Amino acid sequence: MFNTRIKIKTLLATGKPGDQVTVMGWVRTFRNNQFVALNDGSTNNNLQVVVELGLLNEETLKRITTGASLKVTGEVVASVGKGQTIEVKAATLEILGDSDAEKYPLQPKKHSLEFLREKAHLRFRTNTFGAVFRIRHSLAFAVHQFFNQKGFVYLHTPIITASDAEGAGEMFRVTTLPMDGTAPKDAAGNIDYSEDFFGKSTNLTVSGQLEGELGAMAFSEIYTFGPTFRAENSNTTRHLAEFWMIEPEMAFHDIEDNMNLAEEFIQYLIRYAMEHNKEDLEFLDQRLAEEEKQKPQNERAEMGLLEKLNFVINNKFERITYTEAIQILLDSPAYKKKKFKYDVSWGIDMQSEHERYLVEKHFKKPVIVTGYPAKIKAFYMRLNDGCEPGKETVAAMDILAPGIGEIVGGSQREERLDKLEARMKDMHIPAEEMSWYLDTRRFGTVPHAGFGLGFERMVQFVTGMTNIRDVIPFARTPKNCEF
Ligand code: ATP
Ligand code: MN
Repeated sequence: MFNTRIKIKTLLATGKPGDQVTVMGWVRTFRNNQFVALNDGSTNNNLQVVVELGLLNEETLKRITTGASLKVTGEVVASVGKGQTIEVKAATLEILGDSDAEKYPLQPKKHSLEFLREKAHLRFRTNTFGAVFRIRHSLAFAVHQFFNQKGFVYLHTPIITASDAEGAGEMFRVTTLPMDGTAPKDAAGNIDYSEDFFGKSTNLTVSGQLEGELGAMAFSEIYTFGPTFRAENSNTTRHLAEFWMIEPEMAFHDIEDNMNLAEEFIQYLIRYAMEHNKEDLEFLDQRLAEEEKQKPQNERAEMGLLEKLNFVINNKFERITYTEAIQILLDSPAYKKKKFKYDVSWGIDMQSEHERYLVEKHFKKPVIVTGYPAKIKAFYMRLNDGCEPGKETVAAMDILAPGIGEIVGGSQREERLDKLEARMKDMHIPAEEMSWYLDTRRFGTVPHAGFGLGFERMVQFVTGMTNIRDVIPFARTPKNCEF
């Protein structure tokens, strides 16, 4: 049998002097022709493998280079070196795969995140990305655990959709029609999608919510967790063209229940990572602290990563209305000194600078904003009763997080058929095409609510990585689709 190896994480945790073990991994460094730092991705910690003088010939020693893969058998011994309690004294050492030191892009030194983005196929082998993607895995696992424990049904909503009503973002078209100008045209000269693969115009999904609502109307509580696509041409540190979203949808929930669930969920995810990824988080905490030191004093974050995470799990999120948020902005020194690029008035779609002011400068903690103007929100959000004419608001809620901005967007849904139809008419959404959706309001409608959490933004928040491109294995952004 080939694979009788012990993983380095397990070995470092449970290995005892005298154990005979087999380990495999990639060389991080090789010092003094004697000490190999071996990593197999199970932990950020390297295993020190000691190659005693005379074990290997000159030629084999030369092949132990950064990036090469090894199989080592040997005895666990107590380590006298710094930073580890045990190491492995090699009895045999086999090179599984060579790595030409001249050509291997990852040198044993610190590389910039920008450089590593270009080498994304190899960056998993670095300390930083090892930590980030182990945490990403943990968080994904925790998402399922959280909802499973609560009895939510995991619903797989479609990736290819024909509904373009959601309006959450620009969509990518899906078609098999030829692109060379020979696609069939209708009488008006437009492309005739009835000849296309699905017999109609189709897109990649921007959100699974509408289908999620159908599930909630039968299972009571569902969640989706899948890829979503937005052709938004925004080159920011928090937008991807392909990202993963978690969308729970709950019958018999109002906006209050929705906020409570979202807050509990975020805190659960953070706690899970703190429990299961302690070492990786400590590493990233250090990393961030060093990065902060490079910045001028007034731009530095007030809290370290672990401090921030601890704070967020131990303090309730601030809850304010949109109207209150606008008032805070209008009263702010930033507004008075004309520091905002975009103007502030009731009715605006708050820009990222406004959201960041609220969470980073004013409240210094996550903030849940409710009661947004109906005009700037989607058609399915529930109209609040008793609004002043012209100042209609909906039961929407956005959660804004320090350093990220919007991390969750959600709402109580409009369950009253007449009100929903009126809104759709207002917003020129063809009711005929949405008949399947309206059926939920025709047959046994119930108050219900849900939200979407951008998974990468959550990973950013937990890892402290500032650029969203560094928390997804292979980022898709405008003009970039490598690997
Ligand atoms: P933003 O204003 O930041 O563009 P949005 O209002 O378009 O966000 P929603 O449509 O409410 O966002 O989507 C729900 C969640 O999905 C957001 O709260 C965010 O966490 C995440 N999200 C939205 N767009 C993106 C994107 N392009 N890349 C990564 N995550 C995203
Ligand atoms: Mn958006």
